Amino acid sequence: SVIVVGSFNVDHVWRCADLPAVGATIAGQYATGPGGKGFNQAVAAARAGARTAFVCALGDDAGGRLAREPAAADGIDLRAEASGQPTGTAGIYVDARGRNTIVIGAGANGTLGAAHVTAAPELLRGARVVLAQLESPPAAVEAALAAAREAGATAMLNPAPANAPTSAGLLRLADIVTPNETEFAALLSRHVGERVEPEAVAALDGASLHAACRKLLPHGTVVVTLGAVGAFVSHAEEDLRGDAQTYYRVAAESVSASDTTGAGDAFNGALAAALARAPEQPFATHVRYANRFAALSTERPGAAPAMPRHDEVMARFGA
Ligand code: ADP
Repeated sequence: SVIVVGSFNVDHVWRCADLPAVGATIAGQYATGPGGKGFNQAVAAARAGARTAFVCALGDDAGGRLAREPAAADGIDLRAEASGQPTGTAGIYVDARGRNTIVIGAGANGTLGAAHVTAAPELLRGARVVLAQLESPPAAVEAALAAAREAGATAMLNPAPANAPTSAGLLRLADIVTPNETEFAALLSRHVGERVEPEAVAALDGASLHAACRKLLPHGTVVVTLGAVGAFVSHAEEDLRGDAQTYYRVAAESVSASDTTGAGDAFNGALAAALARAPEQPFATHVRYANRFAALSTERPGAAPAMPRHDEVMARFGA
């Protein structure tokens, strides 16, 4: 099974012609729904076919109740800690060109406790992959990764968002780290002291990318997602995961992407599910599956609602 430890937000989305300027009051088309990186990734893992549990913190309010119905609809085992804070929220403005401005109110997500994460030992015993992001307190993320390793599961860290603090100790707890280009550049600058522009990452040659990944996570596997280009994988020699090569690119599928919101969440949930399903298969196979799953998610609007199902991925791309 897959355990996702992370955030749940009520997304409030306003589509406007232009983003509001300071002091301005403008009109926009409003929509609301469940979101948050943790929730989106749990939905992706579940729809990719994994038995999935989602460990999070919810407020005793309408937002908290909003989490339960969609989680149940996707068969997700929701393990919510009751928080005294309001359920997490995101205020999202999107302009006509698809550019956005986002404000997150962490609320309950900021109170997720390490003890709650490790409170369900029976859950951890059955886990193949534990997947965490950085929209939760560092202590909870550390507890999740450490518990994964103790249980013999793969500890996977999606280091998002890019501006969230990370410590060297946190990275050391992860078997697999999955930054996008912006997060990769942030981690390199913070932990390796190397500067690279996010826009320049995809164009770097494999050997240079591999060298940078090895400095970032000497013992494990780094997967850098490269948007429409696909993904770059770098393994430590001792963490080859069924692959013959230590580094390689896996090309993205060509689709008519209309909304890439949540593409990274789709990729992470699907990669965790694929790993849990067939840990003995070469890692490159799982990354190809995650590329396919994420590609389909970009053809539909939104994040969690846009996640495809395993059957759709098979029907579109074959096995
Ligand atoms: P994020 O959403 O975190 O910025 P990326 O943009 O790197 O993450 O996208 C994650 C994954 O989604 C990519 O590795 C790729 O598999 C898929 N993807 C994203 N954009 C496209 C696209 N335009 N066409 C096909 N696949 C895409």
